[in-house]
Amino acid sequence: MPEGDTVYRTAKHLHEALAGRPLTVSDFRVPKFASVDLVGEIVEGVVARGKHLLTRVGDHSIHTHLKMEGTWHIYRHGTRWRRPAYQARIVLENADWVTVGFELGVVELVERDREDEVVGHLGPDLLGPDWDPDEAVRRLAADGSREIDVALLDQRNLAGLGNVYANELCFLRGMLPQRPVGEVRDLPGVVTLAHRLITTNRDRVERTTTGDLRPGRQTWVYGRDGRPCLRCGTRIRRGSMGASELTQRVTYWCPVCQS
Ligand SMILES: [Zn+2]
Repeated sequence: MPEGDTVYRTAKHLHEALAGRPLTVSDFRVPKFASVDLVGEIVEGVVARGKHLLTRVGDHSIHTHLKMEGTWHIYRHGTRWRRPAYQARIVLENADWVTVGFELGVVELVERDREDEVVGHLGPDLLGPDWDPDEAVRRLAADGSREIDVALLDQRNLAGLGNVYANELCFLRGMLPQRPVGEVRDLPGVVTLAHRLITTNRDRVERTTTGDLRPGRQTWVYGRDGRPCLRCGTRIRRGSMGASELTQRVTYWCPVCQS
């Protein structure tokens, strides 16, 4: 599951490759939109909304989402793709660039003035121009019985956090991921820290929540199960969390630093 900072960078790179130029190829490799042809239309821009991407072309927006395994590659013409062609869900080309979305979880075409139907449910976007910490706190606090880790991942509360940030935020605030939202001290502080962490990583290629870029030290707990806590030396635990299958996530925590 990608984090919002990855999607933000993807949008920026796609924007640089596509914006202001006409498409020479628009190849939707999903059945529902296979007949769509946007050749000759100018791409106005590519923006991220939380973890969603909107590529605005003429009167339409191409809505895509990376979901679990998705990724966009940008190639010069004639360059060999680094992924098999059968994984491509959409190909957009102009005179200079070939952009390919591989294994995207969502590919659809919507009318520009109906973008809200696909991203209108999102809470304030941590990396967006509409970022509103008070509104994010209000939405998070609306259900005090939910586990904080699940609430942070719910894109309707605030948009952009994935599992890495949810786990790291819980560590940094000294709380177990399963603590109910209603028992979290200083929810505004959690939201402020979330914004700071993801903003700091926005333009970095390698993400770090510790400030350290050395392998194995880029996170406090995420992906470090069985290894010593960087703060207290206790072995980091790993478990699966969440009330339902839909919200279930692998979670990492330090049993001493978090309570
Ligand atoms: Zn610890």
